[in-house]
Amino acid sequence: MGKGGPKTWVEISKNALVSNAKIFKRRAGASVAVMAVVKSNAYGHGLVEVAKTVQPHLDWFGVDNVDEGLALRKAGIKKPILILGFTPSWRMQDAIRAGLRMTVSTREQVHAAKSAAKKAAKRGYLHVKAETGTTRQGAELRELPDIAEMIKSAKHLVLEGLSTHYANIEDATDHDYAAGQLETYQNALEILEAHGFHPDVKHTACTAAAVLYPDTHFNLVRVGIGLYGLWPSLETRLGAQAKGLEIELQPALAWKTTIAQVKDVKRGTPVSYGLTEKMPRTGKVAVLGVGYWDGYDRGLSSVGEVVVRGRKAKVLGRVCMNMCMIDVTDIPDVRAEDEVILLGEDGRVAVTADDLAHHLDTINYEIVTRINPLLPRKLV
Ligand SMILES: *Cc1c(COP(=O)(O)O)cnc(C)c1O
Repeated sequence: MGKGGPKTWVEISKNALVSNAKIFKRRAGASVAVMAVVKSNAYGHGLVEVAKTVQPHLDWFGVDNVDEGLALRKAGIKKPILILGFTPSWRMQDAIRAGLRMTVSTREQVHAAKSAAKKAAKRGYLHVKAETGTTRQGAELRELPDIAEMIKSAKHLVLEGLSTHYANIEDATDHDYAAGQLETYQNALEILEAHGFHPDVKHTACTAAAVLYPDTHFNLVRVGIGLYGLWPSLETRLGAQAKGLEIELQPALAWKTTIAQVKDVKRGTPVSYGLTEKMPRTGKVAVLGVGYWDGYDRGLSSVGEVVVRGRKAKVLGRVCMNMCMIDVTDIPDVRAEDEVILLGEDGRVAVTADDLAHHLDTINYEIVTRINPLLPRKLV
C-alpha cells in the first residue's frame, strides 16, 4: 500500500503467518489438529486475509460468532469452523445451514439448537464446553450427562466435541490452577464416557498451553495469539525457553500511516488539545494522519513512540480523533507524505505490540484487536 492507497493501513506478512502456523503444527505433532483462532477480525489482522493464508497449513478455524463464520464460508473457507462464543437461539439456523459448529453450555442452548437443526433439516454439530474454573461459558460437570442425553435424543444433533478453557495458563509461574482445571476436564470426559458418550474432538489448549503443556493437547489445540507471532505473556516465553523449546514466533502485523505536515515550532509552544504538553525545545513537529478512531489509543498521548526514517519519534500532546503529532526535531529530512510505522519495524528499530501494551497497561492482544477493522489489511 503506501503511495496510492489510504493514508493509514495495516500490512500482514504472509511468511510470518505461515511460519508461525508451521511452528504450532510441529509442536502439536501428527495426531493433534490445530485450530487457527481467527475471531475478532483475526486479532485485528484481517479475518479473510489470515484465513486464506493459513488454510493450507491448519485444520480448523475458531471464530467468535455466526457472522464471522459466514464471512469465512463466503470467502471459500471449507475447513471446519467452530463458533467459540455465544450463539443466540435466533442465529442457530444460520450457523447450522453454513455447517458452523457451535459451542454450547446449557440445556436451553441444546434445546434451541434442536429446533434450529430441525428447521434447517440439517445436522447441527455441537461442542459442549465444561466449566472447569474460569467462571465463564461452561456447563457444570453434574449437568453433562443430561446435556449429552438431550443431544443424543435429538435426531439432527451431534455431540462432536468437549472443550474447556484455562483461566490462568499464561501465568506460567503458577501452574497449579491450570493443572486443577485439566483434572476437572478429564473428569468431565470420564463422566461422559461412563454414560456412553465419546465426543470425537477433545480440546482445551490455547497458545500458552499448546506451547508449554502437551498434556493439554488431546486431539485439537486452539491457537490465537501465537499464530500472529505474539507471545501470550513474558512468562510463557520464559517457560518455553526453560523447557529448551526453540520457538521463534514472527510478528505478522505492521501498522503504518503518513505524515500530513511538518512544521517548525518554538520551544514552549503547546501542542494539541488541552495544551497538555509544550514543545520541549525549538524544533520540528510532524502531524500524522492517524488518531484514536483508527485505534491509536488516546492513552498514547505524550508517551507513544513511532518510527520515522529509521528513527524513533515521540508523540507530543494528546492523540486526537484522526490525527496526532510527533517530535521529529532530531530526524533529518522528514517530509510530508513520508511513511510512519506505528507498530512494526524498520531495519533495527521496532515498536512492538508489547511496547504499546506497556504504555497502556494492557496486553498485546488488546493492542492488535483494537486496530480499527475498517482500515485496509494488505498481505505482503
Ligand atoms: C480466544 C480463544 C483462544 C485463543 O487463545 P490464545 O491465547 O490467543 O491462543 C482459545 N480458546 C478459546 C475458547 C478462545 O476464546
